[in-house]
Amino acid sequence: MSEKFDVVVVGAGPAGYHAAIRAAQLGFNTLCVDQWLNEKGELQPGGTCLNVGCIPSKALLDASHKYSQAKSGFPALGIQTKGLAIDVAQMQKHKRSVVASLTQGVSGLLKSNGVVVMSGHAKLGAGKQVTVSSDQASPVVVQAEHVILAPGSSPIDIEACRCDDDIVVDSTGALEFEGVPKRLGIIGAGVIGLELGSVWSRLGSEVVLLEAMDSFLPGADTQVAKEALKQFKRQKLDIRLGAKVVDSQKSGTQVVVRYEDSEGTQSETFDRIVVAVGRRPQTADLLASDSGVSLDARGFIEVDEHCQTGAPGVFAVGDAVRGAMLAHKGMEEGLMVAERIKGKKPQVDYDTVPMVIYTHPEIAWVGQTEDGLKQKGIEFNVGVFPMAASGRGMASQETAGLVKVIADSASDRVLGVHMIGAHASELIAEAVIAMEFGASAEDIGLTMFAHPTISEGFHEAALAVSGHAIHIANRKRR
Ligand code: NAD
Repeated sequence: MSEKFDVVVVGAGPAGYHAAIRAAQLGFNTLCVDQWLNEKGELQPGGTCLNVGCIPSKALLDASHKYSQAKSGFPALGIQTKGLAIDVAQMQKHKRSVVASLTQGVSGLLKSNGVVVMSGHAKLGAGKQVTVSSDQASPVVVQAEHVILAPGSSPIDIEACRCDDDIVVDSTGALEFEGVPKRLGIIGAGVIGLELGSVWSRLGSEVVLLEAMDSFLPGADTQVAKEALKQFKRQKLDIRLGAKVVDSQKSGTQVVVRYEDSEGTQSETFDRIVVAVGRRPQTADLLASDSGVSLDARGFIEVDEHCQTGAPGVFAVGDAVRGAMLAHKGMEEGLMVAERIKGKKPQVDYDTVPMVIYTHPEIAWVGQTEDGLKQKGIEFNVGVFPMAASGRGMASQETAGLVKVIADSASDRVLGVHMIGAHASELIAEAVIAMEFGASAEDIGLTMFAHPTISEGFHEAALAVSGHAIHIANRKRR
C-alpha cells in the first residue's frame, strides 16, 4: 500500500465517508481510516449515524409507531387488530439487518469509488503525518497532502448517573433493549430523550423524562414546543421540567434516581435509565501536540467557515466542529472540503440547516425563530396553518400540529419555517429549497401544491402570511 495519499480522511461516519467519496470522485488518491469494528473484528463504516444513531433509531421509531397506530388508530378505520402483539426480538432483528445492509453499502461505495480503507485509530502529527494504530498490526505512518478530520462525537456521561451498560445505558444501549422495560427513566428531554422515550413508551414502558431546564425544546419555535409538549403528554410521556438529576443508587435490579426541582429533592425508582444529556466531540488522542490543530475549551476542533483548521491543508468536519451535531450538516461539510481542496469554491449555508425530531408528530424547522428575530430587531410577518384544517390530514388521522412560515415584513423573504405534524421530516425539505432560492412567502403561495397532501399545510401557511389562506379564518390581511 502506498504510504502517501493526496487526501487522508479520519473517520468513516457521514461527514468522513462523504468527504472521502467526493475526494476520490475528484481524482484524489484517498485513504479513509476508521476504528469502528463489527463483532467479526472488521471495519464497519457509517459512524454513529448508521451504527448506533439515526438509522437504527429510525428502524425502532418506525416499527413502534406502526405498532402504536395499529393499537390505537386502526379500529377507527375499520381495521381489526385482534391478537396484535409486539415481538421485540424480531424488531431488533429488523434493525440489525438495516444497519448491516447500509454499512455494507457504504463499504461498497468507498471501494467502488477507489477509496483505500484502513482500520485503526488515527492520530495527526506534525507535517500532516497520520499514524494509524490497531490491535491487529503494528502502527502505520502515512503522509498526507491534505487531511480531513471527521472523528464524530460520543455520548456525555454524567457523574450523577454513570452508565454501567446494564441498567444505566446511553443512547447506544437504549437501542439494544431485548425486552420492554416496565419503568424507564430518561435523563434529558432533548432530541435523543424524546425519540428513544417515544420508542419504548409506544411499546408499553412507563417513561419519565427528567429535564434540568425549565423550558422545553428551547431551540424550537415556542408555539411548536408548546404543541409538542401537549402532544407528548397526551401520549403519556411524563416530562418533568426543571428536574436536575443529582445522584443515583443501584438497588437490586433497579436504580433510584434523586433529582432536584423547585420543590426540593425528589426520588424515583426505575428498571432502566437512559442518559441522554448531550454528546461531546471525540477528539481525545486525535492530535499530537505538534499537529498545528487546536481544540477549544470543550474539545471541539477550531475551524473557520470553510472548515479549515489552524494547520494548512488540515480540515475538520461534522460533529467535532462548531454547529449542530447533525449527520446532514457533516455530510455537506465533507463535500465542501473535498471540493475546496480541488480548488472549487462551494460553501455550506449554515442558515438553512434543517433540524428534525423524529417523534410523532414529527418536529422540523429551518431558519430563524420569532424569538430570535425579535432579539435582532427584525420585523416579520407570520402565517400559521393548523393541521386540523388539512383534508388529507383528516383522511389519514394526522390532524395534530401546525406549520408556521415567518417572512421579513419589508421584503416578504422567508426567514424561517417551523412545523410539527406528520411527515414534517420530509416537508421541511420544501422549506429548505424555498429558502435556498431566496423565496418570498408570496412565491410559495403562487406555487401549485398537489391536492390532497399534507404539504398543502406549507402552502396555506405561506398564504396566511398575507392573510390569504383559504382553509382557515384569516383575521388580518396585508
Ligand atoms: P440535547 O442537548 O438535545 O439534550 C440533552 C438534554 O439533557 C438538555 O435538554 C439538557 O438540559 C438535559 N440535561 C443535561 N444534564 C442533565 C441532568 N443532570 N439532569 C436532567 N437533564 C439534564 O442532547 P441529546 O438529546 O443527547 O442529543 C445529542 C446530540 O445529538 C444533539 O446535538 C442532537 O442534535 C443530536 N441528535 C440529533 C438527532 C436528530 O437530528 N433527530 C437525533 C439524535 C441526536
